[in-house]
Amino acid sequence: MNYKNKWDMESVFPGGSASVDFQNRLSEVRDSITAFSHELDNWELDEHSNDFASLKGILQHYEKISNALGEMGSFSNGLVSADVTDQKAMQNLNAVHNLVKDLSSQNIILNKKISALTEDQFAKMLEDDFFKAMRFPLEEKRQKEKDLLSTEEETIINHLSLDGLQGWGNMYNQLVASIQIPVIEDNETVYYSASQFENKMKSEENPKNREKLLKTWEDTWEEKADLFSTTLNHLSGFRLNDYELHDYKDYMKVPLDYNRMEEETLDTMWDTITKNKEPFKKYFERKAQLIGVDQLGWLDVSASVDVGDYTNKQYTYNEAAEFIIDNFNSFSPKMSEMARRAFEEQWIEAEDRPGKRPGGYCSNLPESKQSRIFMTFAGSTSNVSTLAHELGHAFHSYVLRDLPLFNQRYAMNVAETASTFAELIVSNATIENATSNAEKINLLDEKIARSATLMMNIHARYIFERNFYDERQQGTVDSNRLKELMKEAQKEAYQEALSSYHPMFWATKLHFHITGVPFYNFPYTFGYFFSLGIYNRFLEDETLSEDDYIALLRDTASMTTEDLAEKHLNVDLRKPDFWQKALDSVHKDIEEFLELTESYV
Ligand SMILES: [Zn+2]
Repeated sequence: MNYKNKWDMESVFPGGSASVDFQNRLSEVRDSITAFSHELDNWELDEHSNDFASLKGILQHYEKISNALGEMGSFSNGLVSADVTDQKAMQNLNAVHNLVKDLSSQNIILNKKISALTEDQFAKMLEDDFFKAMRFPLEEKRQKEKDLLSTEEETIINHLSLDGLQGWGNMYNQLVASIQIPVIEDNETVYYSASQFENKMKSEENPKNREKLLKTWEDTWEEKADLFSTTLNHLSGFRLNDYELHDYKDYMKVPLDYNRMEEETLDTMWDTITKNKEPFKKYFERKAQLIGVDQLGWLDVSASVDVGDYTNKQYTYNEAAEFIIDNFNSFSPKMSEMARRAFEEQWIEAEDRPGKRPGGYCSNLPESKQSRIFMTFAGSTSNVSTLAHELGHAFHSYVLRDLPLFNQRYAMNVAETASTFAELIVSNATIENATSNAEKINLLDEKIARSATLMMNIHARYIFERNFYDERQQGTVDSNRLKELMKEAQKEAYQEALSSYHPMFWATKLHFHITGVPFYNFPYTFGYFFSLGIYNRFLEDETLSEDDYIALLRDTASMTTEDLAEKHLNVDLRKPDFWQKALDSVHKDIEEFLELTESYV
């Protein structure tokens, strides 16, 4: 089979960004939203009535509109990604965004009405299979509504948040855009933007130069440290005030609720990770020897090791496709079958050409019940892993495709379960498949460095944010103190194993300034080790089949994270056992790395 490396968008809407069908659809959906808002306005349920037929119609209508917007959004965003100069596609995307905004205003009203049902009515409603299937998301909506203040007060907060929260987020982005970092090239000083410099710094091969670049990076950001501390203090200050108004006792309530998990689970995960950091000391020492430094610096952890000349295996797109389909098959024939369909039916835009947006993603076509994957495939093993990762996301959507819309909306902490899982299958196979020892060492090193990021770098971000929020509750925290807090957090998370740290990280890392979600970092670590734990579990327990895995994925938006693990894996995430098993495989990787590199030092 010869797979084409470009995606098929014609079957979604023919004619590209000038598609007439798309424009027609857009006005149809616009009319539907107007009709929907009337329908919703007119729906009032008497306290004693148990007639839920109209509500069923309303929910079905909502779902239909939402799916149409999903389909149109994926289509137009896809065209923008594949050709960043396509202005028409950008206009289409903005038009979809506007309708999404209109529908979400209706969604707020819908939630209010569902929450206004009495307990008796709600119980009665759940006797109907249609509503019963949505039990968890509906209960969750009602619970969230209880946490809210009056509509008037919430509206005031929302209005004020435009300048009080979003405004500071915008200010952060402007400040980052004003960063200019001097670099001497051919005896001349040129200025790099923050992202250009970051790329340069991370790809610098000489460790001494790398360290110098880090120093320049730190110094440049430090010049604006007070401005960044103002934005960070106001972002968190707004949130803390908002929490106080809502009478939330703990600032962790919002991020934990958002991820549908308990604090005990999060604490156990970090505790178990902390107890498993010891082997990294040996790994860091060996890596330092291989790189040629006394002790690893902040940037060296993710740098590549030098074990002499070797060539990385290169894959053609077809080889990659066959490799992924074969390796998926050894775990799950259904997953493999979906991947084959994705390649055959051209769900994937992989061509290596200019004019494409960087990065990779998977987006859903809810009406076609397919996905579209965007990436640039240049033949490296890491491209093969990315392709597998995105196909994992596609498989997650694929197994959820027939569930009610509300039961498809999984949280951030489990969003990466299926993708990490698929990536693990394939990246482990590429390590097995390495053509030389040197290549194997490099692949293994990348994998361990990634574990170090999740177990140490992200841990440092978590420790910092907890300590910062604790102090922020007492008043503003100045830039010197922020630097201190960050350095302390990094030292703690890396167990003092590095020769240099990055005290300005609280300013350089966008994640601390994202306005949408607080504590944006820990879900990554959770997602990775949750997936790794599931992966190991399926390898060792022969009674588990692909259908058990699929059943778990299908429940990702239908229960809390703890219940999900209890029901499908029979484990308690509040206890260390599950996490320990996941971490055991990190130790194995380190042992193998130490063995393989023995002869190189
Ligand atoms: Zn992903």
